[in-house]
Amino acid sequence: MKKIISIFLSFLLIFPCHIKTGKTQHALSVNASWAVTYSEYSEMFNDSDLIILGSVMYQECVQDGMLVYTKSYINVSSIYKGAVGRIISILQVGGQVGQYSVFPFEESPLLEMGEFYYLFLKGNDYYYIAGAGQGVFSCDQSSPASLSICETMFAQESCTPFIVGTPTNGFEYPSSTGSVSFCVNSNNNVSSSVLASIKSGCTQWNGVSSLSLSESSPAYASIIINITTAPSYNVGLVGVTIKDGYYRYIDLYYDCMNSLGYLNNTSMWSRLSCHEMGHALGLGHNTLSYSVMTHYIESMAPYPQYCDEITLQELYPW
Ligand SMILES: [Zn+2]
Repeated sequence: MKKIISIFLSFLLIFPCHIKTGKTQHALSVNASWAVTYSEYSEMFNDSDLIILGSVMYQECVQDGMLVYTKSYINVSSIYKGAVGRIISILQVGGQVGQYSVFPFEESPLLEMGEFYYLFLKGNDYYYIAGAGQGVFSCDQSSPASLSICETMFAQESCTPFIVGTPTNGFEYPSSTGSVSFCVNSNNNVSSSVLASIKSGCTQWNGVSSLSLSESSPAYASIIINITTAPSYNVGLVGVTIKDGYYRYIDLYYDCMNSLGYLNNTSMWSRLSCHEMGHALGLGHNTLSYSVMTHYIESMAPYPQYCDEITLQELYPW
């Protein structure tokens, strides 16, 4: 049953206190009775405009009259209901502007920077959390166990999650067993730590849909990775993946003048090689979800995300 209670904000206390600068600091504490609470999960699902999995990438405080809101910018990983771009903003009561601060609602603590959450949201240009604090579920994205618990939660409530999978690029790796062999021809063009990060980027796909990627000699590899100098400067790092029959060629280009400072950035090399290996396995670009398959290296996820994994599971369903 949905309980409708009229919104009631009681401004409990406004207390001035002196701080060392001699300026007066005001802190406002607000109690709220929520207009809508949900006694069943499915009600919250139906009433939400948007349901996503995402992480908090940036926060700022904005003042509106007596209230201060914390605006959290969310990097969207998966969408379960509604349609939205890759980044959304959520408003929550609480925060500080200058010397003036407002405490968050007790029932709805502020989202934390860098954390992953399942969020049930209402709104359109910007969003509020549904049912006050009810629509927030912490989820440790790095823990498969935590992720599967959250997914099970959706399944148990007999809601069909709508997940934006990464599109395919029209060809998939020809393997009937899940084993994938690659080789890296560096010709001593890059340092050993860069070389190691390239191989590590490739093997980030290990275990996704039981794929098993391993390095082999060039004679046995069907994915051939070449590291070469870019034909022009200021390109940073560029990856190109080509399919030629049974073989896939991944060309990783770098700017030998190191104009953008990427030459020895192992984290960039690793995510670029992971991205190109995604193409070699059959994934296209993902423009909607937080993904290792986004176009631009700066905004690329460092390793395969759920949206990338679900498409691979469709391509390689063994
Ligand atoms: Zn690409």
